[in-house]
Amino acid sequence: MPCSGEPRVPVMGSSTGLMGLLTQHQSNLLIPLFDLDDDLEEYKELVGAQGDTDGQSLRNYRREQHLLRKMLLDRRRIAQCGICGSSLPKDLLVAAHIKQRAKCSTEEKLDLPNIAMLMCDFGCDGLYEDGFIYVEEGTVKTRPMAGDPAALRDKLVSLEGLTCNEWSEARRGYFQWHRANVSREY
Ligand SMILES: [Zn+2]
Repeated sequence: MPCSGEPRVPVMGSSTGLMGLLTQHQSNLLIPLFDLDDDLEEYKELVGAQGDTDGQSLRNYRREQHLLRKMLLDRRRIAQCGICGSSLPKDLLVAAHIKQRAKCSTEEKLDLPNIAMLMCDFGCDGLYEDGFIYVEEGTVKTRPMAGDPAALRDKLVSLEGLTCNEWSEARRGYFQWHRANVSREY
């Protein structure tokens, strides 16, 4: 859902004009980033860091994902999957890059909160990551194939046409990149 139709509200404690211009949705996304300054600083360092060893790189990656997820959750114990819309406990939600992380520039990785969104472990994260589903102009689309196993077919049917509440103008390019470059292989 585009943000343009939402009421613009001032943000408590903000002395800048910028925050007052943001929609409620955008403000909700940004507030945790300001509250969690330490997390954001560490995230920035990790994004810019190159590990000396594979083990170090893996640790850095895991820590980066942990911080990203924490910022997206914003202290919520229950949050919505950005694809299917299900409200779920945080342990069942992951921080998913809308544009494949490995293909993101450092600048894009730092484009918080637009580059990532929460997706559920009940299939949406994996289906999106492997291109079984994509988002086009705010609508969830699927790529079914003849011969798909029933469980996959039924899951895709349940997702086709849903509104992706996480879609926004700022994220359009990332969703378009995913649609054009990530597609199921079988
Ligand atoms: Zn989901």
